[in-house]
Amino acid sequence: MPSSNISAHTQYVIEAQMQPHESVRLRLEEGEMASLAPWAQRSVESRGRSRPEEPSPVRTEFQRDRDRVIHSNAFRRLKHKTQVFIAPTGEHYATRLTHALEVAQVGRTVARALKLNEDLVEAIALAHDLGHAPFGHAGQSALDQVHPGGFRHNEQSLRVVEVLEKEGVGLNLTWEVREGIRTHRKPRSSIAGVAVEPSSTLEAEVVKLADGIAYINHDIDDAVRAGVIDIDDLPDRSLHLLGRSRSDRIDRLVRDIIDTSADRPVVEMSPDVLDATDLLRSFLFENVYLSPAVKSEWSRAHHVVLQLYGHFCDVPDELPPAFRPAAADSLHQSVCDYIAGMTDQFALHTFQAVFVPKMWSL
Ligand code: MG
Repeated sequence: MPSSNISAHTQYVIEAQMQPHESVRLRLEEGEMASLAPWAQRSVESRGRSRPEEPSPVRTEFQRDRDRVIHSNAFRRLKHKTQVFIAPTGEHYATRLTHALEVAQVGRTVARALKLNEDLVEAIALAHDLGHAPFGHAGQSALDQVHPGGFRHNEQSLRVVEVLEKEGVGLNLTWEVREGIRTHRKPRSSIAGVAVEPSSTLEAEVVKLADGIAYINHDIDDAVRAGVIDIDDLPDRSLHLLGRSRSDRIDRLVRDIIDTSADRPVVEMSPDVLDATDLLRSFLFENVYLSPAVKSEWSRAHHVVLQLYGHFCDVPDELPPAFRPAAADSLHQSVCDYIAGMTDQFALHTFQAVFVPKMWSL
């Protein structure tokens, strides 16, 4: 048999032995090889998982990671975690869950336009806030104050996917998704995160910008809804350049990233648009996050987390069995993991159960 025929025959035998669906993943991987930019992260070139696994017949490695995040307990809890307005009763306020979905939506649009890996962006975006403490930055600040070594929510998100989910086994995600979660940090002054710690993939950089675009715009909406600001209070320069409505601003920001970064191995905004966006961010800090209306609740939430932390360090037997430390030196970490995983409501109920006397009823 001529050698060229051996090759064709071998190919035939391989295909005949393949599981019925296996060609689905191969087709997806070939699609990535053919259509993504040279600087995109391809799933077949992943550095892999801590514990090697058989590939899925119907999904790429990053699609599989995205699905694991969606099915995790920590992801479900995001529906009852908030950032600015604590445990709101109004039903249109953003939650961490809607935030994560918005980050994924913005990120996927950018990734698709720039020929980056949309699935990797989606997996990082959905996972990036899994370690957020209850009461948003108030909870984070309290844990940072009291926990030895401090508390950073990107590091806690990594703990969730590496250690805490699936009863201590973790989700065994690929290196690229975990690295994207770990490096998800931004300076206080800007939504551009490259300045703090560049990520190894452009897909992770997309998520940093998408995060800023999402939260600035839903926080403006929520602050107007809550009566804390009026839309006309926003800086004129930002309104003029980016637009008055949320959809106009998000569209403008997304298109600016795409136009500025097209056909280059970067993910960035034009200087003018970044400046106008950072101006909105500063405005939110001064007039919403640090406003008297928000700040008074912030102090109460901060107090709740501090008290819960102290209580469970003093009485570790009251920790749920899954969080009881095996060794005394890991008590602080166990308490931190337990509290960081709480939703706003759960933290309030726990505080009430621990510190508020129950009324006597006959
Ligand atoms: Mg976020």
